[in-house]
Amino acid sequence: MRYVGRFAPSPTGPLHFGSLVAALASWLDARAAGGTWLLRIEDLDKPREQPGAVDEILHTLDALGLDWDGPVVFQSRRGELYRAALEQLAAQHATYWCGCSRREVADSSLGLAADGAPIYPGTCRNALSGKTPRALRLRTTPQPIGFVDRVQGPQVQSIEAEVGDFVLLRADGVYAYQLAVVVDDAVQGVTDVVRGADLLDSTARQIYLQGLLGYATPRYLHVPVAVNAAGEKLSKQTGALPIDAAQPAPTLARALAFLNHAPPAGLGARELLDWARGNWRPERIARQRSLAAARLA
Ligand SMILES: [Zn+2]
Repeated sequence: MRYVGRFAPSPTGPLHFGSLVAALASWLDARAAGGTWLLRIEDLDKPREQPGAVDEILHTLDALGLDWDGPVVFQSRRGELYRAALEQLAAQHATYWCGCSRREVADSSLGLAADGAPIYPGTCRNALSGKTPRALRLRTTPQPIGFVDRVQGPQVQSIEAEVGDFVLLRADGVYAYQLAVVVDDAVQGVTDVVRGADLLDSTARQIYLQGLLGYATPRYLHVPVAVNAAGEKLSKQTGALPIDAAQPAPTLARALAFLNHAPPAGLGARELLDWARGNWRPERIARQRSLAAARLA
């Protein structure tokens, strides 16, 4: 069966251990299946982009031996695709303009979603009530969305109750992550999404959008998010160190250990990847949303 996987980093900084784990799991799952592995740079949020980060990410993947297929795709150059998808949704009356400010959404919210964002109560669903249109939202339904994650098991979410009608086009004119990722995965023919469990709660929204747009739903595998001793997700903000591309073998061995794969000692980077591809057992990965990374220094 055809397999197309992808790694889709945001160029907000160099790869750190957490993003490497997601990249490695995705690469191994694709290569073990004899599949294709695509690289997509999610650079829609230009103000958050760090100059030089794209080159740094490509260099690190290359130095580690995580080779990708075909040209690197940049979301910032794909606005036409996202616009066409929004028009398709608008034609189904699935979207509406929201005039609420950030403060108004927070004040009217019925609670917080899993990602900490306020749940939008649908204030502008039927009328803008004289407000200026700011963001475009997707009309959601109480119908629960379920799927079986290959590591995390069965998942179910009522988007309307747990997230609310979510934004597809932001007030600053930027296409929202949820829209872009769904369009790109479909256009690129992605069959398998392997990524960090911080995106587990986004999956129901993405499946809902896939249904409205007539796209196939890929298989999903969410690996635990690497956290530090304080339980914080590794990131630039929490002081995660960039991957040392000059030391590929110990770096790959640590990432494999995090994924609960134990290669024989003394292998070089190339041999480690060959071993891991032949011995890839995703069912060994911890069925947890987060996992403490061993000391990284
Ligand atoms: Zn509103």
